[in-house]
Amino acid sequence: MLKVCPVCRSKEIDEIVYISAVPALANVLWSDQERAVSAKKGDICLVICRNCSFIFNSAYDPDLVDYDCCYENSLHCSNTFNGYCERLASDLSQRLHLKDKTIIEIGCGQGQFLSMLQHAGDNLAIGFDPSYRGAEPEEHDKTKIYTCIFPPKHPLEQEPDFLCCRHVLEHIFEPEAFVEEVTAAAKPRCKLYFEVPNANYMLRLPGIWDLLYEHFAYYTTTALKYLFLSAGCENIQVTERFYDQYLGLEAYTGKKRLSTNCQPQTHQIVTSAQKFGKAYKEKVQEWAKYLDSLVSKGEKVIIWGAGAKGIMFLNFLGMDYRTVPFITDINPAKHGCFLTGSGQMVIPPEELTSYRPDKVIIMNPAYKNEIEADLQRMDLHKAQILIA
Ligand SMILES: [Zn+2]
Repeated sequence: MLKVCPVCRSKEIDEIVYISAVPALANVLWSDQERAVSAKKGDICLVICRNCSFIFNSAYDPDLVDYDCCYENSLHCSNTFNGYCERLASDLSQRLHLKDKTIIEIGCGQGQFLSMLQHAGDNLAIGFDPSYRGAEPEEHDKTKIYTCIFPPKHPLEQEPDFLCCRHVLEHIFEPEAFVEEVTAAAKPRCKLYFEVPNANYMLRLPGIWDLLYEHFAYYTTTALKYLFLSAGCENIQVTERFYDQYLGLEAYTGKKRLSTNCQPQTHQIVTSAQKFGKAYKEKVQEWAKYLDSLVSKGEKVIIWGAGAKGIMFLNFLGMDYRTVPFITDINPAKHGCFLTGSGQMVIPPEELTSYRPDKVIIMNPAYKNEIEADLQRMDLHKAQILIA
């Protein structure tokens, strides 16, 4: 159990909620239902630091979380998400004058966003991601992806003018050391863009299905600023993005490391964290009761979206494949696979035309229009959409 805040070193830590036996890797795909159900599990002891409002899992065991090529969390099948990435790439490249520059993306996945940044200003775009499955980069490529971690052992061919890292930081167990190392690898005044899920939004909603074992960390605006300030960064600005679900941090690398002595105001956020803990227990009970009543009436229920939220929804409720047999997703890489923990099979949306669900539970209101249109197209407009 971690007793010290990994961002500000404070020992003033409050427990928010304790959840036992959570699948350690929600986004791993299984071809075998038995193996899916018996996959590794760990506990979430969600806590908040009273000093900097950093939220983390103090029971996190990094040894349970080993990413390999079976890890599938790409959202790039969705038009809503792709549209957001396109707008973000063009916004960043215009405002930060990214033309003919060297750009680095840490944790670039299969390079979709990296190539958007490359095209936005004819930049040299270099990505790093151990889960990258494409070809080795060639010397004259304008987009190159390496399967090593950043900073690489080999010297960088060009110092970056812009360094970005999206949806990585929340997985990092030692964030202070990570940000120090990454920013130290860039020259001073290098532009930075970091994006993480927005913990302020999660508490506000309350978005209890956003809890995930892979996410050691949940950043509030205050904690995120604190982290980069401690690493000596300057001109730090944090904005809410993607329907407020993400936080985007922009900053410049600084010359000196500061000892941070800011006094963040966290009283309000600590209060909403306590409410979140209470809401978790209530919401899980309500949904479990409601789903049980639907199933006992013989209604057919399907979850739309075999992403992290859908997987956690079923696991937190303890609804396994014997009660709710299927989940659907538009990502073809997931079809025919089984959910970790709860064991549902992922079916393509087209199969709903024969399954004919009465209720479609969606996990993210941001995708409601897209899903509604898909249901209309398949003549399933009678199915009732519920937002979890
Ligand atoms: Zn702290």
